[in-house]
Amino acid sequence: MNREYYGKLIFELSRKGRGGYRLPSNGCSGEISDLPAGLLRDHAPELPEVDEPSVVRHYNNMSTNNFGVDTGFYPLGSCTMKYNPKINEEIAGDAMIASLHPYQPVTTVQGALELYYTIQQTLAEIGGMSEFTLNPYAGAHGELTGLMVIRAYHAERGDDRRVKVIVPDSAHGTNPASAAVAGLKVVEVKSRPDGTVDVDDLRPLLDDTVAAVMMTNPNTLGIFERNIPEIASLVHDAGALLYYDGANLNPLVGVARPGDMGFDVMHINLHKTFSTPHGGGGPGAGPVGVRKGLEHLLPNPRVIKKDDGTFDILYSDNSLGQVTGTLGNFAVAMRALSYILSLGRDGLKMVGPLATLNANYVKEKLRDSYLLPVDGVCKHEFVFDGLIDKSTGVTTLNVAKRLLDYGFHAPTIYFPLLFHESLMIEPTETESKETLDEFIRVMHDIAREAAESPDMVKSAPHNTPIGHPDDTAAALHPVVTYQELIADEV
Ligand SMILES: *Cc1c(COP(=O)(O)O)cnc(C)c1O
Repeated sequence: MNREYYGKLIFELSRKGRGGYRLPSNGCSGEISDLPAGLLRDHAPELPEVDEPSVVRHYNNMSTNNFGVDTGFYPLGSCTMKYNPKINEEIAGDAMIASLHPYQPVTTVQGALELYYTIQQTLAEIGGMSEFTLNPYAGAHGELTGLMVIRAYHAERGDDRRVKVIVPDSAHGTNPASAAVAGLKVVEVKSRPDGTVDVDDLRPLLDDTVAAVMMTNPNTLGIFERNIPEIASLVHDAGALLYYDGANLNPLVGVARPGDMGFDVMHINLHKTFSTPHGGGGPGAGPVGVRKGLEHLLPNPRVIKKDDGTFDILYSDNSLGQVTGTLGNFAVAMRALSYILSLGRDGLKMVGPLATLNANYVKEKLRDSYLLPVDGVCKHEFVFDGLIDKSTGVTTLNVAKRLLDYGFHAPTIYFPLLFHESLMIEPTETESKETLDEFIRVMHDIAREAAESPDMVKSAPHNTPIGHPDDTAAALHPVVTYQELIADEV
């Protein structure tokens, strides 16, 4: 970290008249007369005036202020921050993929369509579904698309009374949000103390006004829902469809398939399970799969393989319409395909078991210091309810901040909402035993520090560029331009 550049905006490095280039004089007088006056600026753009070394150092220093999975361990529960193999980037960045235009004639992109079709088919195989669309841009977008498929299914049967979606209280916040955006009413079903959906609470909720039940399996506590076959038959008997939130498919890949469990519609987060760098709202993809009989409702456009072996882009009249301009995030789909093909069938089958083993290893090693509210074997992630010793007043937030001092990203905190001090850890399959052991050692150290010097833990972090930003103020009054910053300081 270079102090000269640290914490400064590029505008603060600006010096009048300084620049990083020199152009020969073009002989113009400064008047550009053939542009209409209304389109001309009345003053020059307020760009920073900086020499080239300052620009290079500024951005390089700034990049080292960031934390990513390429920097260190990132056990952010529910987010699957696994290592993203660099070969994915090479493939997705290849000019033959990166410079295609979505409206190119299909005869000029047969190879790309074949890759696209291959991943559609591969996901259908992995999910046990009949067909997938790759169009949605994220998990939440996939949920919305899937619920639109379900609405279209009921509408097609002339059943217009189904206006409700049942969502477990442990669900990811996007589930009720997507249902609301799809114009459906959200009804909550309770969890039992072991974190799984309470079938007795669900049964009376199921009637002819229910369009769908959304489930996550393993659920957000990392617990496998054992009653899916029973739930599926209850839901189907009531005439509703069963939706699978497959954002966290990681522990199931190659081991079990939602389609075989009785789910009708599902989405997968390619950016989580199939290794695309994500976070900070970066590019993603939430492909949606449907069981047999619902394919025609999937959104336009779709890639199909014709009888003569060539590929085409199909717009069908029965479809629910479009949820995206074109065929979705092609580069993300290509990263997923690269990941799947480089692991191969056997490698892919190891993903879930290894992710599960790692999560259980960390859980068992730490349960002497952290409160484990739901016992038993977890899948890819688990939740602690803060430190066991609550007498010190050290909270989950304090533990999370202290972890930053040790160079680890914090786990997910205060989610799920089922516990007061949730600390949700997902190690993923890509971490070595050494990394996990180091994390375990540090978590134990923090528990000891909490007992011996709680104030030090409560005032953490001590080594990071920024200590205690006011999260609420930042969310309510974001300062997004330099002018605002200056105005704020005045
Ligand atoms: C991440 C996640 C989502 C939402 O996915 P986005 O791509 O962030 O929209 C939905 N459900 C679960 C269980 C998730 O973990």
